[in-house]
Amino acid sequence: MAHKSYARSIDLPTEQVFHNIRNARRFAIDIGGSLAKVAYSSVVKRKSTMVFDEPDVEGVCGSPIYNVSEMDQEAVRLHFVKFETKYIESCLDFIKANLIKSKEFVHDKVIKVTGGGAYKYTDLIQSKLGVTVDKVDEIACLIEGCNFLLKHIPDEAFCYMRHGNPEYKFQGVDSDIFPYLLVNIGSGVSLCKVESESKFERIGGTSMGGGTFWGLGSLLTSAKEFDELLDLAERGDHKPLDMLVKDIYGGNYGEIGLGADVIASSFGKAARCARDTSVPDFNKEDIARSLLLCISNDIGQIAYLQARLHGVKKIYFGGFFIRGHPFTMHTMTFAINYWSKGDIQPLFLRHEGYLCAIGAFLKGMKDGDAEHYSWGENLAGSSGLASPQHSAASFDYHMRNNFSLLEINRLERSLLPCPLLRDIIGYFPDTVDLTQDGDARDYWLDCFYKNAVKTRDLAINSQPTSPDATERANDFLKKYRSRLKSLEQNPCAFGHLTVRNLLDTSASMLEECLFTDIFSQQKQLENEAALHQLSDRLAYLDGLPLSERLLQLAIGLLAGNVFDWGALEVCRILEQSKSFGLEDAQAKLQKRPWLFDDFDAWRNRMTQSKGSQKPPYKCAVIFCDNSGVDIILGVFPFVRQLLSMGTTVILCANSAPSLNDVVFVELQLLAKHASDICPVLRSALAERRLLVMESGQTSPCLDLRLIDGHLVRTMTEQGADLVVIEGMGRAIHTNMEATFNCDALKVAVIKNKWLAQRFGGDMFAVMFRFEQSQDHRLPQTVAATATAQELTASLLPSPLSSACSSRSSSLASSRSTSPVSSLSYLGSATSDSRKSQTSDSGSGRSKKTSRQTCDDEDEQSPTASSANIPITASSANIPITPRGSR
Ligand code: ADP
Repeated sequence: MAHKSYARSIDLPTEQVFHNIRNARRFAIDIGGSLAKVAYSSVVKRKSTMVFDEPDVEGVCGSPIYNVSEMDQEAVRLHFVKFETKYIESCLDFIKANLIKSKEFVHDKVIKVTGGGAYKYTDLIQSKLGVTVDKVDEIACLIEGCNFLLKHIPDEAFCYMRHGNPEYKFQGVDSDIFPYLLVNIGSGVSLCKVESESKFERIGGTSMGGGTFWGLGSLLTSAKEFDELLDLAERGDHKPLDMLVKDIYGGNYGEIGLGADVIASSFGKAARCARDTSVPDFNKEDIARSLLLCISNDIGQIAYLQARLHGVKKIYFGGFFIRGHPFTMHTMTFAINYWSKGDIQPLFLRHEGYLCAIGAFLKGMKDGDAEHYSWGENLAGSSGLASPQHSAASFDYHMRNNFSLLEINRLERSLLPCPLLRDIIGYFPDTVDLTQDGDARDYWLDCFYKNAVKTRDLAINSQPTSPDATERANDFLKKYRSRLKSLEQNPCAFGHLTVRNLLDTSASMLEECLFTDIFSQQKQLENEAALHQLSDRLAYLDGLPLSERLLQLAIGLLAGNVFDWGALEVCRILEQSKSFGLEDAQAKLQKRPWLFDDFDAWRNRMTQSKGSQKPPYKCAVIFCDNSGVDIILGVFPFVRQLLSMGTTVILCANSAPSLNDVVFVELQLLAKHASDICPVLRSALAERRLLVMESGQTSPCLDLRLIDGHLVRTMTEQGADLVVIEGMGRAIHTNMEATFNCDALKVAVIKNKWLAQRFGGDMFAVMFRFEQSQDHRLPQTVAATATAQELTASLLPSPLSSACSSRSSSLASSRSTSPVSSLSYLGSATSDSRKSQTSDSGSGRSKKTSRQTCDDEDEQSPTASSANIPITASSANIPITPRGSR
């Protein structure tokens, strides 16, 4: 056994674990019986781009009409780290040593401390750190932390299904979380009923918890570290130790529905063994497994009984005992399902051990204004969940070491759900869930792996004067590729795996490596060249009759969408032919009928207003995509047409750079330059019938749970009745299945052969989907009387309903019920499940382990009367007495 290769379960502090500790400002500590958790906020460096107008330059082709420069920025991040409580002294020394330089910390002399250690270690903390300890109630912190995670971190909660594909069923973000039972399994166990933010009660507990497993486990085996015990348990078989029903009855106890393999008495067989001290009676793997089963089953049953007693249908398990360990979660899930016959839902949390620390930190922020911010997990810095494939010898060392680091970004803007969504609660931004669709997962992981080299090169070129740009870019490449590799093995590690998350993770990692707008030069060149052609393009369109003009506008929009530097095939074309322009792109487009072709319906709707069957749209919201030809020759003429028909247009661009997408600050300048060329645009801008706004997004995809609060208010005020979503990221990878309470136009060119073929099309296949709503406007009662804030509040019961950026993976306000589209193109899950079975058997785990103790044990449904599962018979309150004695 690779005992020696074990890292200590929790290493002593290093700056690698305590990220950005030198910039730390505010602290909170949760000191438990076994583990201490430190929460702190720090300031992290960022780069951002600024765009400056060049008023004196005419915009001659090739000369700059605006200038771009990079600036340093700061952002606030929350960090959560754990270590063994016995190291508290050295950790405090480490914190002190690293904080000496931080004026802010010295300035802020009070820290919130919770957990038993708040009492035990008050003097130590005060003397070591020179601060005053403000003790905060542990249960209150626990609940506050749990509520915060459930509402702000997408996919924080999940159901675990050992044989599911995937094993994890994530819950999106739950805006409707109450009531629930929180079972916190730390050293001991607390059970709390939570009815609202302020109404909660500790309703029970048990001393048989994580400390018991760790303590008894180290007494009974030679293992000293918790992780070591878990690994032993993973490999063990409980049957040699546990007395099963069949050991007593010789088979099933059919009369009361107990299967032969049900545990009648944990460790019951140990008493019967021969006492030859020279030979160990039982192997340590089996002991660890029996113990884990014994404790997990017990807690599962207590949790079930309390939930029943209090009429609660959801149980969240918190505390570091769980550690995302598949076997533990499986046992508890099984116990709850078995006893409740599936009526009560057992749910686990990705950051289960930090609830109390988060709560304590938030309490420290209350004096400030915690609720004015948006929050989102930093995918680049947080660690992911373990998986069965990882939990045995193959467990990646890096993952183990970083396991359960949590980083949360604070965003200064408020992000709110888009009020145009028909069903905010049911909205799921992503079209394909790569945790379920194995073929798509393989394809996209490979695709992003290959693309990463190009991104690295672009990053280097974007900072030509920086001496360490190459080093940082290589660092990006290494980190991103290593993340992709780990996702290959454990796709559920960070929640749903989607194309959006993969793109956002790349953006976060670039940001971490201090890169910002790696396409800025390319975008600038293309913007200038396209602006130069705008006047001719408009003149050409003006010469066409309306019906033909509408077609050419649609084709222009589509052709513009070809200019996407995020698509490898397009990059090749653009790199080979510098003069590739709008007409070349038009020639590449699929000919009508398009793959999705609602153009005739769209044209009818646009021309109907002439015969006054329907009035023109009142307000169109357009989420635009690429810089250059796309925005200038595709979108601006389209916008101009809408304006000239009397429609107000809200043109939205990303708030921060991603790929070659046009950014808000650029769009403002481009709109101004375009308005110098076109009087319709000029007067619309002046009259505020054309509004250029930021979307709040920082991704090539569009998560409508998280858009800029100001945009939300404007949409509502203007009575938006048309939404136009452009591009592959926004209209295909996300929002393809989104439904709106107004008309929606989804426009994209599929610039990826594999994806096109999945849709039954070919490269450059066209999606032009026009979805007409029944009830064209926002629900009148809401639109007419409510502000956007009120609208959001009515949809999201939480007071903390603000959201965070999709880049940081974000607060979201809706819960995914059905994350995966039912479209047939998504491919069959069968092939994937076949694959996962194959890889499972090839994973190196001993067949005996998986067959005898896990797989066989739950082949039957939890409600089966003769469940041959490791459920203890005694816990069913069924007296197990030898047959002979009855
Ligand atoms: P507490 O606040 O009481 O310390 P925690 O929620 O931190 O409770 O959970 C502590 C328990 O977590 C331990 O008793 C042990 O069972 C388990 N545990 C998980 N990971 C570790 C680890 N690396 N080292 C020690 N115990 C761990």
